[in-house]
Amino acid sequence: MCYSLAMRNKEKFKENSLHKQFIEYGANAKKWTRKCVLLLPEIERHRVWKKKGFSSIYEYAAKLAGMSHNTVDDALRILRKIEDKPALRKVVEEKGIGAVRPIVTIATQETAGFWAEKAREMSKNTLEVYIQEFRGLSRPRTKSEPVKDPSAPAAAAEKVSISMDLDPEIADKLEKLKGQGDWNTLMKKLLEPREPKPIPIETNSRYIPAKIKHHITAQTGKTCAFPGCKRPYKILHHTERFALYQKHDPDKIIPLCKAHEQIAHHGLIGNENLAPEKWKIRKHADAENPKHYIDQVVRCYYGLS
Ligand SMILES: [Zn+2]
Repeated sequence: MCYSLAMRNKEKFKENSLHKQFIEYGANAKKWTRKCVLLLPEIERHRVWKKKGFSSIYEYAAKLAGMSHNTVDDALRILRKIEDKPALRKVVEEKGIGAVRPIVTIATQETAGFWAEKAREMSKNTLEVYIQEFRGLSRPRTKSEPVKDPSAPAAAAEKVSISMDLDPEIADKLEKLKGQGDWNTLMKKLLEPREPKPIPIETNSRYIPAKIKHHITAQTGKTCAFPGCKRPYKILHHTERFALYQKHDPDKIIPLCKAHEQIAHHGLIGNENLAPEKWKIRKHADAENPKHYIDQVVRCYYGLS
């Protein structure tokens, strides 16, 4: 019995050691590939590959560094776009070419430092969603409404037209319900919660009581509550941070997708304590806000930065 336990422990130790070694070698391999990638534009400019007897830069990069044709093309294309932005080249060195891909078309020489900071802190997916919000693209806009400045309020002042495919009897029922009123008033009424709102609960437990959870998700279905987002929600996010108040308040818990939750924990949602339609995307986190420290701990815990 003891013998077999010792064998199992020995086996486990061996597996852990193999895994650790693989992680270390993998990290080194990635680091050196990133260094090779950064040399490619110069290698191409001086046609070093030709002078050293290779038929193309692809053969050169494949034989000497194990790079694929696509990797070389991608790297040359992206590095050409950021050659005048040293801050972004630094991110390529640290995180690889993929980390700057979402920002190559948006970053200018003036904003390269700002975007480098975001690319360094955020995962690729979160960065892509942040850029969408930054440009105001995910929110429904009327035809005449221009792309908004990120510091402008989130809610659109003008009305938005939508069309729906409905069964004739449903359309008829809706028309009757609307009567002489207008569609906006009817829809507002239909969206009102049917059941009374549960009272906030103060507790040490992070577990959100079922009644509160049900009330919250009934407002947005299974969808993220960030304006314009259509992704399914993954997290019930405490806009006032549970760690600060130990409270489950139905007005301060919002269903969010992973990317928008991460943007919230980067401190980049302004007016976060108000309803989502009042939210706006921030350029920088507010370091004075008590949430800032909690967010740093959360990001550290989830390995977000
Ligand atoms: Zn979302």
